[in-house]
Amino acid sequence: MAKLYYKYGNGKSADLCETAYNYEENNMKVVIINAYNNEDIISKYTLNNNYHPLTRKVDIKLTGNNSIFDEIYLRILKKEKISCVLVDNSQYLSERNAEDLFFIANLLNIPVIAYGDRTLKGGIYSPGAMRLMELSNTIEKIDEEYLKYNRRTKGAKLEFHYGAMNSSKTAKLLYKADELDKAGLNVFLMKPFSDRDPSMISSRIGMQAKADLVIDNNTKLYGEGEYLLRNHINYILVDEAQFLTERQIDELKQIVRDYDIPVRCYGLKVDFLSNHFTGSGRLLETADSLVKLRTVCPCGEGAIFNARINSNGEYQKSGSQVVIDNGGNYISICPKCFIENVMDEKLPKVYRKVR
Ligand SMILES: [Zn+2]
Repeated sequence: MAKLYYKYGNGKSADLCETAYNYEENNMKVVIINAYNNEDIISKYTLNNNYHPLTRKVDIKLTGNNSIFDEIYLRILKKEKISCVLVDNSQYLSERNAEDLFFIANLLNIPVIAYGDRTLKGGIYSPGAMRLMELSNTIEKIDEEYLKYNRRTKGAKLEFHYGAMNSSKTAKLLYKADELDKAGLNVFLMKPFSDRDPSMISSRIGMQAKADLVIDNNTKLYGEGEYLLRNHINYILVDEAQFLTERQIDELKQIVRDYDIPVRCYGLKVDFLSNHFTGSGRLLETADSLVKLRTVCPCGEGAIFNARINSNGEYQKSGSQVVIDNGGNYISICPKCFIENVMDEKLPKVYRKVR
């Protein structure tokens, strides 16, 4: 199945223009959209020291009412061959159009690369960007290479290692703790309170460690910074970070900045309906680095969602965000299986009609 990519960082328009150029060089058709203002895409960067700026004409203009899925689907019905859909300024898309891009990749099997910022200007929540990050197979920072030479990467980072259930998040956290410990570093372990296991960080394969700090919604993490510094803590690992509050994620970021202590959070990206949790949403918006942990769907494709099933094996399409997992009532599934079993009622109308 084709994938949906979300790309953020510096050089987005240049990457879009270069990608389009590469496709066309191989006689493959791309469709270009500029979600901000429908105008031609102009990149400030230049290709191979060629001082003409890279530009691209847009192929589909968004009116606010049209559906990107419908536009692409009608072209397919007219036997047009489309190899890739490229969208610039995706943070300005509506949630509905963000979902359209997800359906284009997974129902029409056309790869989609959505370029955008993770928030609107000034760090303001963007419904379109968040929906794309919730649904995309891969979230990638474009300027990783460029940043290697930038001051910021020298300092500590806030990292989010996310995955679906059964991606061994806790086991990976405990391995990391062990590795750091063996290297002589002082590691501090945090986790949110849970009834099942109040103070232990336990993985399904039986590894466990005691948490140094159990967090509830009122815990002020930044206050811990001073304590951490006094106690020469070199590294912080957070389990189940999706359950932290937005403010707590911001405080972790402050600890990274002010005390130069790296913080690595492990957690789920989305719930059983593909919506972010408070902590994971904030991490998607602000983490310095996003790392995807792999796990597999029963069909063999890569899983990025967690579906909730009841005791009769039926997929749940509503309910509260958190239900303690008694083992066996969640499965990790791929986008296609998730669409078929959980999002079937949200399928684009035009697609349902013809099907
Ligand atoms: Zn599957």
